[in-house]
Amino acid sequence: MLLEEKVALNTYRYCGAIHIHTHFSDGTGNVDSISKAAKQAGLDWIIITDHNYIDAEEGIYNGVYVIKGEEISPATCNHYLAFGINKLIEPDNDSRINISNVRIAGGFGFAAHPDESLERKNKWCPIRWDNKDTSPDGVEIWNWFSSWGDNLDDSSILTLAKSYFFKHKMVTKPCSETLKWWDKLNEKTSRIIPAIGGADAHALKVYDYVIPLTIFPYKTCFKAITNVISLDNVLSDNFNIAKSQILEAVKSGNNVIVNRNVCKGLPEITVSNSENTVSCGEFIKLTEDTFMEVLSEKGTYVKIIHDGDIIADKSAKRCRIPITKTGKYRAEISYKGRGYAYSNPIIVI
Ligand SMILES: [Zn+2]
Ligand SMILES: [Zn+2]
Repeated sequence: MLLEEKVALNTYRYCGAIHIHTHFSDGTGNVDSISKAAKQAGLDWIIITDHNYIDAEEGIYNGVYVIKGEEISPATCNHYLAFGINKLIEPDNDSRINISNVRIAGGFGFAAHPDESLERKNKWCPIRWDNKDTSPDGVEIWNWFSSWGDNLDDSSILTLAKSYFFKHKMVTKPCSETLKWWDKLNEKTSRIIPAIGGADAHALKVYDYVIPLTIFPYKTCFKAITNVISLDNVLSDNFNIAKSQILEAVKSGNNVIVNRNVCKGLPEITVSNSENTVSCGEFIKLTEDTFMEVLSEKGTYVKIIHDGDIIADKSAKRCRIPITKTGKYRAEISYKGRGYAYSNPIIVI
């Protein structure tokens, strides 16, 4: 059986956006309007994460599964995206306390926008992760709004207009410091420390300039950084079952982070041998015929990373490399210099 058929036969892929603010914190939309925007952007599920608030109504809205989480948000640093919790976690400046409180509540969390730039040319202060010796359950390796904010130059009307109209071009790739930290966290454990991509969508209304601006409509953010989960079964019609399916995939790293503004298709990243084919977040046994394969778009550039080291680096629509060592393997794909897709690790044992 061809690998493509096996992938197509065995998994169901669903696109979702994570890290969204509603009118309950500093966003402007409600659950109904945000889910409509998600539907229009081709999403199947979204996770709402208001700052220090968790009472948005979950459910299936406009054909989209809407799950609630919380962005635990101390005032100046250590924002933590918490999922699978049912009660509010009060923010603490010490990230270790937030990490621990989420686990005690039965949930799991992701360090949000950990490396916002210290060299911003605008009035928005970076909110960073202040202690990289901590061990969050996962890392938000790419955040659309933070990436845009890092490159926003509001020193003149000209640079501001450029930032506004060429917004997608400003979201180039994840911060290399964040990717390094994520690899280091993964080196410390045999488990997968998962990554997510965040929209950080607010649809903020800004009245500081000549014309009122919305930065940026939910749909705009939702059409860019997307979490593509692969499931063995179709998503259930029962909301609670579907919620477990989605959260389990996010927690286990069965997720490829894709900027759909860069290329239209979705890549397939697998490790195979004669007995099995697995995707991100899964384990496979090392055999003599084990290989990793990345199927992507024409003109893309693929990097394969093994335990933090680049072991293959080439321009290819189809990249296949033999695997001869155990460890964690992940892929990064770029297109014309812009980040396109970042896989979670696959573990070869
Ligand atoms: Zn934040
Ligand atoms: Zn946020």
